[in-house]
Amino acid sequence: MLSVIIPAYNEQDNVPRAASAISKLLSAHCIDYEIIFINDGSSDRTWQRLSQLAASDERIKAIGFSRNFGKESAIFAGLENAAGDACVIIDCDLQHPPETIIEMYKLWQTGDVDIVEAKKRTRGNESTAHRGMAKLFYKIIQRVSGLEMEDSSDFKLLDRRAVEALLRMPERLTFFRAMSSWVGFKTECVYFDVAERQSGSSKFGFTSLVKYAVTSITSFTSAPMQMVTVAGVVTFIIAVIFGINTLVQKIMGTSAEGFSTVILLQLITSAIIMFSLGIIGYYLAKIYEEIKQRPRYIISERLNMEENTRR
Ligand code: UDP
Ligand code: MG
Repeated sequence: MLSVIIPAYNEQDNVPRAASAISKLLSAHCIDYEIIFINDGSSDRTWQRLSQLAASDERIKAIGFSRNFGKESAIFAGLENAAGDACVIIDCDLQHPPETIIEMYKLWQTGDVDIVEAKKRTRGNESTAHRGMAKLFYKIIQRVSGLEMEDSSDFKLLDRRAVEALLRMPERLTFFRAMSSWVGFKTECVYFDVAERQSGSSKFGFTSLVKYAVTSITSFTSAPMQMVTVAGVVTFIIAVIFGINTLVQKIMGTSAEGFSTVILLQLITSAIIMFSLGIIGYYLAKIYEEIKQRPRYIISERLNMEENTRR
């Protein structure tokens, strides 16, 4: 059986559309399926729509969060509650074309593939700035973690083995895209063209994307902390050069003036110290958040599914 996991946050108009498009498609290809919607604390009528859908079709299931926990949490809630032999994660707004699921499913059925990644062939109508930022973000990720992730998306099919491996990772601050490549297994790619969003607007504005990027990078690597060490080494070298220079001038009796050098050095070093403290503080905050061991999400309601179906 195939579990289709769909995070939905304020998607009242897209929910019925996605449900009908995906069920029609999977039925037409005689694939046994369940569709699990995760209502990520929507403030519109998403839950009412899901109730109607679930009442008319028991293969449509839903989990409701007690508040908005973010797409990452929604994906993990879906994986934790899916019963299928494979899981597909797809967006609710039909920007990920459902037909690609069939392509992914066929690849998985050959039996040699555990993870099928759908990569973006084209990125739809994104602004140039957004495109550039995304490129930079993946460059950084690749540099620091060695994971090739350009043009990747959360649109993936995972075999049960890969799902179990992912669910054994206990961290609270998750980054699904990178974690699913970190677990390894045989991975294949398929390509898709990002479609127009069906209705509503994107949930990720500029600031939330920057936040997402920072959280993702720091949750996956401690490279920024090593930058602090590098900054320390560089300033130390400069300090030695200036130190010798100052001593020589002192001995030769030519030391005078140079007051602006003192001010500049003070400013630069204190800026580096502050910046470094900021990075260290950020990681400290992340450790604090992890160590609290809070759940990734809180479920307040379910449709067509028992509590803890598998666990
Ligand atoms: N989403 C979510 N929780 C959030 C934000 C988004 O579950 O806090 C879902 C959203 O409903 C959609 C998917 O994540 O199904 C992708 O969101 P969106 O289309 O806004 O992102 P974009 O395609 O613009 O990157
Ligand atoms: Mg979208």
